[in-house]
Amino acid sequence: MTHWHLECSACAHTAPGDSLATVCPQCGQPYLVRYDMPVPRLDTIAPRWDMWRYRSIMPLLPEEEPVSLGEGATPMQEIPELARAIGVRRLWVKDEGLNPTASFKARGMSAAVTRAAALKVPGFVVPTAGNAGAALSAYGVAAGLPVRVYAPRTTPKPILDTIAALGADLHLVDGHIGDAGKQARAFAAESGYFDVSTLREPYRIEGKKTMGIEVAEQLGWRLPTHIVYPTGGGTGLIGMWKVFAELRSYGWISANEPLPRMVVAQSAGCAPMVRAFEQGADHATPWENPETYASGLRVPGPLGDRLILRALRESGGFARAVPDDQIRAATARLAKASGIDVCPEGGCAFAAAEQLAAQGAIPADAEVVVFNTGSGASYRF
Ligand SMILES: *Cc1c(COP(=O)(O)O)cnc(C)c1O
Repeated sequence: MTHWHLECSACAHTAPGDSLATVCPQCGQPYLVRYDMPVPRLDTIAPRWDMWRYRSIMPLLPEEEPVSLGEGATPMQEIPELARAIGVRRLWVKDEGLNPTASFKARGMSAAVTRAAALKVPGFVVPTAGNAGAALSAYGVAAGLPVRVYAPRTTPKPILDTIAALGADLHLVDGHIGDAGKQARAFAAESGYFDVSTLREPYRIEGKKTMGIEVAEQLGWRLPTHIVYPTGGGTGLIGMWKVFAELRSYGWISANEPLPRMVVAQSAGCAPMVRAFEQGADHATPWENPETYASGLRVPGPLGDRLILRALRESGGFARAVPDDQIRAATARLAKASGIDVCPEGGCAFAAAEQLAAQGAIPADAEVVVFNTGSGASYRF
């Protein structure tokens, strides 16, 4: 028996926690993990220095060991000069580039591979804009299971090299991640390999929600007023918004404490979530001809569109599109102010924060966390 079950994010359908879950069989929308255990106390945090220190509020049985490479527990650096420069009270950068294979995809893959390996899948397949494939390749090695990756031919070469170095079976695709997804699903159907595409299984969210727990713990179990997140498939944004409600219900953060406004940052060359948010829609329509060098943001039709929009509305957040030339400038500026080798996606988030602050949408007394989601080194070739 697991101490969690799966619940469809759109209809009432549920499934047991020990089923090899994909999406809701009734409506095709993503499942979310719902916990059934007694309220966990703060002292159930485990004495280890990775995201599994929060194992008591994650999908892991007490007797299980996770498939882990030391993901999470990333630094959150405060940069007072930049806070002053953009006109907010405090500004931090959470540096996810320090994860195994240099992006926060490690968190989601550690959780997803842990659950699927426990259910004895024969192997893993994923379509990727790059970093998810690199992370899955690493966790496949850790689990002792084969991995197949479908990635656009335009994926940054250092990321493709990482996938190959880790021994995964890499297939290059003409087109974007949506095109890669079609081939990955066809291969999964014929091989029985488990498809860990964003939100086609519920556990990558549970890994990525640990970013939200870390932000809270690093601030002394308080939350910032704004979290700016460079959004592709949206897993991290959805996961953090989910876990803030969980932390509140456990009493790990005060019920009086306001939750952060969640802010989506996208490239102007592929901004389906910004467009849907501005139109007041409850779902997004796929972006035609997605073009951006911030490859993690080149996701024209995210499956989690409804959940992203729900998090934005429930949190009172914003969505902002930034042209690639402004992303480049902001990436360089943030790197030189922080000492972090910022990735373009992180630069996009910083640019969105700066622009929203300049317009007064993010107020002068704001406490802002910007996510740098990967490493600039992955994009230099
Ligand atoms: C995947 C990725 C993103 C987008 O993350 P989602 O949680 O899917 O929205 C942003 N930045 C980088 C570097 C990525 O690899």
